[in-house]
Amino acid sequence: MARIVRCDLCGNEAPFSRKSGAPKPWEVVESKDVCSSACAIEFRERERRKLETVDGRALRLTDHALARFTERAVYVGLETRDPVVTLRRLVKSARPEELDSIRKTKRLLSNGCTQADYYASGVWRFVVVGTELVTVETRNHHN
Ligand SMILES: [Zn+2]
Repeated sequence: MARIVRCDLCGNEAPFSRKSGAPKPWEVVESKDVCSSACAIEFRERERRKLETVDGRALRLTDHALARFTERAVYVGLETRDPVVTLRRLVKSARPEELDSIRKTKRLLSNGCTQADYYASGVWRFVVVGTELVTVETRNHHN
């Protein structure tokens, strides 16, 4: 009897038989079912983009934050072969940063009143909203 397997990434469904297993190119990546190599690549990239803060918050790295980091790394002369790996390390070592109330209010208004948390490491400031790292700034010219 065939059961249905569902891609953990895109939700694609396919019949799965005991005998022949899942249809090609279905594969299992870190105990997740993925329906295609494109979904496998996307799944691995998502895993790679999981960040953790010093106070144990699990964050997702957004495209925007990665782009800003890559851009500003060039600007500050930080050479990185793999920006995701470098970013993960920096975020892990960053300390929560308390902005003063005037700056906080200004930022709240320019963010469209979205409450954000800030983490700092060296010249870097990481802006966190909910469970996402939404952007990366350098602290000397974006106060
Ligand atoms: Zn899929």
